Amino acid sequence: MSSGSPEILVVEDEASIASFVSLYLKNAGFEVRTAENGTDALTAVQTREPSLIILDLMLPDLDGLEVCRRIRQNSDVPILMLTARDEDVDKIIGLEVGADDYMTKPFNPRELVARVKSILRRVAPERREAQGERIVHGDLVIDAGRREVTVKGVEVQLAPKEFELLWELLDHRGLVLTRDQLLERVWGYTFAGDTRTVDVHVRQVRRKLGEAAPIVTVWGVGYKVSPAREATTAP
Ligand code: CA
Repeated sequence: MSSGSPEILVVEDEASIASFVSLYLKNAGFEVRTAENGTDALTAVQTREPSLIILDLMLPDLDGLEVCRRIRQNSDVPILMLTARDEDVDKIIGLEVGADDYMTKPFNPRELVARVKSILRRVAPERREAQGERIVHGDLVIDAGRREVTVKGVEVQLAPKEFELLWELLDHRGLVLTRDQLLERVWGYTFAGDTRTVDVHVRQVRRKLGEAAPIVTVWGVGYKVSPAREATTAP
């Protein structure tokens, strides 16, 4: 029976991890469904979209990256990926795959629950709040209502967190934001988390925006936005 609690889909083939994660989530008040492989996960999402998906990278049939890609073709449902390897991180949260966040195994289940809560807290209100706001910075235009970034009028695709990170920095022009501040504002962590997440996203934004990327590293502190250059006219 639906109680109105957010429902989390846990996709993990290792039964011990799946039940352990489910237990912590249920204790935190969530409804939980589980899937043991990628195919079942895709079916579960089609049947009824959950509020959030915890998706293990290593699955017996389709791997987590492929599952995430397929879900992203039709849905913005928040996805938190579990991975055993650090080197997957760039791929996981990049646009190609499009997960919202990741955790490296072994993880603290309390932290997992904290992240699930913060992702859910952020998703809905943030999108409403941002309606209709637009920032112009040189050749760069970022439109929060339409979730659209353009450089000289050409749209650049950013993953959700890349978009929010860029917005947060532009919205605080003139200030330096520390990695912890960015984690808290963009990811909603209220404790010092893995600040490497911030660096990975900054790198992706710089790569995608090229010369139009306005983000400056302030060594030992964090990031800020460079002054806007005068907009050039598109050829
Ligand atoms: Ca697994």
